[in-house]
Amino acid sequence: MAATAFVSGATGFIAQHIVKQLLEKGYNVVGSVRSESKGENLKKNFGSNFSYEIVEDLETVGAFDKALKKHPEVTVFLHTASPVTFQAKDNEKDIILPAINGTVNVLKAIKASAPQITKVVITSSAVTQFNIEDMDASFSEESWNQITYERAKQDGFAAYFGSKTFAEKAGIEFVEKEKPHFTVSTVHPVYVFGPQAFDSEAKGELNLTNGIVSSLLALKAGQDGEVPSQSGPFVDVRYVAEAHIIEIEKPSNGLRVITYNEGFSSQKILNIINKNFPELNLIKGSPSENLSGGEHVDDAKSKAYLGLKNISLEKSVVDLVKQYVEANK
Ligand code: NAP
Repeated sequence: MAATAFVSGATGFIAQHIVKQLLEKGYNVVGSVRSESKGENLKKNFGSNFSYEIVEDLETVGAFDKALKKHPEVTVFLHTASPVTFQAKDNEKDIILPAINGTVNVLKAIKASAPQITKVVITSSAVTQFNIEDMDASFSEESWNQITYERAKQDGFAAYFGSKTFAEKAGIEFVEKEKPHFTVSTVHPVYVFGPQAFDSEAKGELNLTNGIVSSLLALKAGQDGEVPSQSGPFVDVRYVAEAHIIEIEKPSNGLRVITYNEGFSSQKILNIINKNFPELNLIKGSPSENLSGGEHVDDAKSKAYLGLKNISLEKSVVDLVKQYVEANK
């Protein structure tokens, strides 16, 4: 019988690729979503081996218990749901606490209500390995962001970094204290770009990180506009999804698995768009300058563990822009 995986936050950019790849591999998937309309939309795209449960708020105590009790066939759980934003009215309430409490709620629910689940994979982030005070410092699977709770509350960017760091630590603490019947491992993506899992989802505003690419499409030649100075490490969303599936299928070895393909800068992305889509008529910027950044990743152990083929920034950007331009015609 096909194995069944539970994916929290199934509407997300990364989660949709995880669900799509799981279904392609023959799994059945139960996803949690925040509303019926979101669940129905996913069902339309994913088909009959996908079902959904509504979990409106990650923070409600017992939020996942009911959903898990209804699905005794689930044997692996992928926890991807978490606020992904650098802007909030209240950094602690809107970004930090839902990430921490969501993770703890998921782990508690599995311990209490799903004795058959053997593996939990949490989508953490490379921001738990970055040094927020020196973003160019090299990081590896063993690095930890030293951010404090007070620092995290100061601005939205720090709040996101803190939210992921404290949530991961809360997961580790849970396992140490509760000694549950399942293993918990983490995947740590750097900045994720790439196409949406379905063309129909590429309309309008994209998720936070793809927004770095789509915002460049507004820089039309002959109009005011400067190339942003942004740079960092990049990974394609399909690579990230595959890494999650490897994590559930391979014995866990405690590695905080980094997913990374190459460095990006806004100028490097603009050059790719100008080369492949000259008809978009974007500004050129300084094509031979600011092409590096984000290469300070020591992910040799993760690469050896995953054994995946890299996906280039060029492929990722071309697939995303093609889909986005078509969907928004
Ligand atoms: P996304 O498209 O914004 O997806 C976030 C998901 O979490 C959505 O399903 C969203 O539900 C759900 N969610 C957010 N806040 C919630 C809350 N308070 N209660 C319940 N559900 C909530 O983001 P993504 O880029 O796919 O990110 C998915 C995961 O990967 C996150 O854990 C993120 O931290 C991690 N990650 C992302 C990147 C990146 O570059 N994108 C890099 C490293 C790690 P709705 O659709 O209903 O809003």
